[in-house]
Amino acid sequence: MSSAAVAGVDLGGTKIEAAVFDDDHQVLGSARHPTPVMGGPPDVAAAIVIAVNEACGEAGCESGDLTGIGVGSPGVVDSGSGTVSGARNLPDWEGEFALGPELAEKLGTQIAVGNDVAVATDAEFELGAGKPYHSILGVFWGTGVGGGIVLDDHPWHGRGAAGEIGHMVVKIDGRQCQCGRRGCLEAYAGRGAMEARARKRHAEGEHTELFKIMEKRGRPRLTSAVWAKALEAQDKLAAELIDEAVSALGAGIASAVNLLDVEAVIIGGGLGVRFGEPMARRIEEAMAPHVFNSAHPPEVHLAALGDLGGALGAALLARRSVAART
Ligand SMILES: [Zn+2]
Repeated sequence: MSSAAVAGVDLGGTKIEAAVFDDDHQVLGSARHPTPVMGGPPDVAAAIVIAVNEACGEAGCESGDLTGIGVGSPGVVDSGSGTVSGARNLPDWEGEFALGPELAEKLGTQIAVGNDVAVATDAEFELGAGKPYHSILGVFWGTGVGGGIVLDDHPWHGRGAAGEIGHMVVKIDGRQCQCGRRGCLEAYAGRGAMEARARKRHAEGEHTELFKIMEKRGRPRLTSAVWAKALEAQDKLAAELIDEAVSALGAGIASAVNLLDVEAVIIGGGLGVRFGEPMARRIEEAMAPHVFNSAHPPEVHLAALGDLGGALGAALLARRSVAART
């Protein structure tokens, strides 16, 4: 094992992905665990420890041998103290929890914590589809809709909460969002909101294959794969909800582009990656009528790093953080 190995952890609402990388960003070992749905932050931290140890086992090392570990977490992250607060997609995580210090104690190495979407955007910028550009907008379409911003080669975090593209208003007084506000992009395009809508219409008697496909796959929720399969089977309700999501994404992303005038938009996330290139083109088409600078619209690309982008971005954060301290 290279002495410069680091681990990256992508902490998501549904899964925890941990991977150990060598200094050429090659994967030495990886592990994936479901995110606990019960308990609280200490239970999530314990699940991260298990996933990291498993990835280390595959890589043939101990966590204490790693140069550092990076964690990409939802919620508002204080990267100085390693605390995470308001991670609404995680169980009972409204308040503040010192995730970094807790993991440092259990795993015996330096921990760097960053926002999940920010680190995934950074990975695409450094090593993926954003490489040719100086300014990009990353849009991660999954359970929610997250955004990451890089301007003139620098990540833009605002005061810690920038990039919340999922809460751009696409319809005034529109549908209720998980965040408690109305008309947010996420209320139309988030996989969670799409599922809630599908369940309601199904309960009202509308025909759909969505839940049959879900049950056949032994899943408790409508995963990206279930949506993709239903779309393939030309399920009417699935197609309608996806059409609605795509037009909301088009309006929200184009509005962000009108403000920032980035060179490229990178589409990732569970649904983004699963639907692939044809859906990136559909989103680009949905953006077109709203882009003010229509003579020079941004390029729209699919995220190139796939499912491991989040973990890789977290590992890059760990490397940078260690380099800054030495
Ligand atoms: Zn919202």
